[in-house]
Amino acid sequence: MTDLPARRLLLVHAHPDDESINNGATMAKYAAEGARVTLVTCTLGEEGEVIPPHLAHLAPDRDDALGPYRVGELAEAMKELGVTDHRFLGGPGRYRDSGMMGVEQNERPGAFWSADVDEAAAHLVAVVREVRPQVLVTYDPNGGYGHPDHIQAHRVGMRAVDLAADPGFRPDLGASWEIDKVYWNRVPRAVIVEGFARLRRDLAEPGRLPFERAADVTDVPGVVDDHVVTTEIDGTGFAAAKAAAMRAHATQIEVAEPYFVLSNELAQPLFTTEYYELVRGGREGGSRESDLFEGISGRSFEEVQNGTGL
Ligand SMILES: [Zn+2]
Repeated sequence: MTDLPARRLLLVHAHPDDESINNGATMAKYAAEGARVTLVTCTLGEEGEVIPPHLAHLAPDRDDALGPYRVGELAEAMKELGVTDHRFLGGPGRYRDSGMMGVEQNERPGAFWSADVDEAAAHLVAVVREVRPQVLVTYDPNGGYGHPDHIQAHRVGMRAVDLAADPGFRPDLGASWEIDKVYWNRVPRAVIVEGFARLRRDLAEPGRLPFERAADVTDVPGVVDDHVVTTEIDGTGFAAAKAAAMRAHATQIEVAEPYFVLSNELAQPLFTTEYYELVRGGREGGSRESDLFEGISGRSFEEVQNGTGL
């Protein structure tokens, strides 16, 4: 553990594919720069809808084999992003996809939505104390768009930030660690409105795109007024890696750059600049940050390099 890279980024997501859609360019960029990028995915995405007809048998109401299949898709996506540290919260299959809000799967034993938040957070505390990230990325309190697993990932992620920093909490899980900065995934309204305008123009040209209809701004998670966004990561150089990672999730996503569709077949823009709201930790001045690690003091970098506290 004493040879951890200086910069360490932890992302907490609900299902395989969320990381590539939301943060694929960011993850690829920091991995390429030598930062330690750790992904914790809370469920296997067992309740997802399957796009390719030849894989329809994996669905939960048929073979119920989508979870293990998506473990493989996620591994392929991580190869595309150059990320080597990806884990499932509590181990693969510990928590099951809860399905959309209001369905009976929400209350199924083992469903992530019905998990005890502190118990689930303890699994994440172990990862935080091992990897010692300066930065954590997750969703806003509504999970970006109200999916139970995304809301729960937010709760578990934020709870783990506090518990990991508390020396009195589960010392058996490692020495306490304070995360400097916490971000929520965001999309500025002006960017998404412009993106959909471009998409609708492209859809109007016959044969240009393999998709027929556009989604709506309200279908996109995490959209906020522009001033709420504190940070943007220019992932232009990692556009191909992000698209390839999204394609690796073939049961869930179809990509035709710079657009993609989910199982609802409604096209939306694929962004290679990714946006964030800083919710914990300080920021200098009023302009947008261009680096998630901006302003972090040398202290938390040096601490691990010198082995202090390990
Ligand atoms: Zn999801």
